[in-house]
Amino acid sequence: MKFSNTYIGLGEHFFQRVLPQKVPAPQLLLWNVELANSLFIANKWQSDAQLLSQYFSGNNLPNGAESIALAYSGHQFGHFNPQLGDGRAHLLGEVLDKSNIRRDVQLKGSGQTAFSRRGDGKCALAPALREYIMSEALYALGVPTSRCLAVVSTGEKINRGLAKAGAVVTRVAASHIRVGTFQYFAARGDLLSLKKLLNYSIERHFPQLNNEKSSDEQRLLSFLEKVMAKQIILIIEWLRVGFIHGVMNTDNTAICGETIDFGPCAMMGDYDENAVFSSIDEYGRYAFSNQGKIAQWNMARLADCLLPLLIGFIKDTTKENDNDENDSEQALEQQALTKIEELIHQYTTKFDEAYYVMYANKIGMNESCSVSKTLVDGLLAIMQKQSLDYTHTFHQLTQSLTDSEQAEQLKSVLGGWYATWLSALKQVDVKPKQNTIQIAQALMAKNNPVVIPRNHHVEAILTRCEEAIATDVQQLSPFDTINSIVGEFLRVLHSPYHELDGTEKYQDAPADGNSCYQTFCGT
Ligand code: AMP
Ligand code: MG
Repeated sequence: MKFSNTYIGLGEHFFQRVLPQKVPAPQLLLWNVELANSLFIANKWQSDAQLLSQYFSGNNLPNGAESIALAYSGHQFGHFNPQLGDGRAHLLGEVLDKSNIRRDVQLKGSGQTAFSRRGDGKCALAPALREYIMSEALYALGVPTSRCLAVVSTGEKINRGLAKAGAVVTRVAASHIRVGTFQYFAARGDLLSLKKLLNYSIERHFPQLNNEKSSDEQRLLSFLEKVMAKQIILIIEWLRVGFIHGVMNTDNTAICGETIDFGPCAMMGDYDENAVFSSIDEYGRYAFSNQGKIAQWNMARLADCLLPLLIGFIKDTTKENDNDENDSEQALEQQALTKIEELIHQYTTKFDEAYYVMYANKIGMNESCSVSKTLVDGLLAIMQKQSLDYTHTFHQLTQSLTDSEQAEQLKSVLGGWYATWLSALKQVDVKPKQNTIQIAQALMAKNNPVVIPRNHHVEAILTRCEEAIATDVQQLSPFDTINSIVGEFLRVLHSPYHELDGTEKYQDAPADGNSCYQTFCGT
């Protein structure tokens, strides 16, 4: 693994140098071979579980790693907290992957830092495994996400009300720069650091903006526009597969547009636009269909941070041009505000457009038009009213195009909607001799998963893992034990658009449609 540490170049304000806390008996439980290969982790390492457990528990730092905890702030459920930061995570450094993308490698659950506040810096086994399973599932579904390289049990008991086994999960992400990282410096009025962070983020995530001969002002606005575009893709993808993040605070919103911080996330069972599973989300702020609006709100918070920089850039240009001496300070500030607000307002139109294209694809139509929009709205209304299972309904719709039994069943559930949809599909304009139904079905098969990480299966597997680790006193081969429990589920989840032997076992909807399911942040 060839580490570099470009984030450290930003300076001491951005992080605390701190080593992971040593743990008594690290044992490797899960190892992501595919991800490891993409990071060029040598086979010699990969076949040495002992070595991996030392490195990915934080007991030993690999060569070139320089452990730091990042500083950030964040709006949590709408309330600003100026001092958050990595309270239980250590960034080891960055590694270039096979696609030449710089990836952060970060330990989570690896002990206290200056940002721990009252927390113990630890992570329990179940949430660590959960993050691994959920992120792999999202990755295979095609949703932008951070991924997990390893889960290592620490041999410690940690206090989560009850004594729980401790673990460290290694997370790999395009970066850990959050909206909250910008907020950290904006809240402190530290414009110099804010500018450094902006330049670093552009260089790392949108280097093409540096190639264009654009002004600082234009670069900043393009940056915001691009971050927003990535958020739109992210949320649309969550909606497509029925993912509810559960805690879309600004500190959990990555600039790179990947899903991070899986805490209380869940998958939707019965379609309900108001679905919320997190025990702490009392008012449904982060409900399924609110996610788009919340991402816009989070982008507006990023815009707040960029505003003082933009004002500065506009003033500089005005001075250089020396032609608008009459422009008052206030007028320049208003100019900056107008420009940034315009971008934030564009979000709504762009999001709605992407939303209807995504759902049009799910019902076999290529683009959104008035017909597909009406069909989408109509279908979702029926699904809401009848509490139909989200994944199952779309999958059945796909199958029904070539399976008369499924078609009959759906006709009785969806009534007139089904016939209207079918005739709309047949009218789609395609090249002569092409079969419209076949084309529609292929499009639907790519967009409607046959299997998702259903909450009840995830929970059952996590409980079995916890029990196995707790009762296996000798801990002879926890790696084999955990992989024998999780392995088949992961294999199935890695193929979410194709049924394999074993897929059927994980397709069933929960008996209560998840009406009683609750997730917790106590990770
Ligand atoms: P999260 O809910 O995981 O997004 O975390 C929100 C904030 O709480 C972040 O600053 C975390 O680093 C911090 N945090 C969460 N759990 C712990 C813990 N067990 N120990 C220390 N800090 C924590
Ligand atoms: Mg977080």
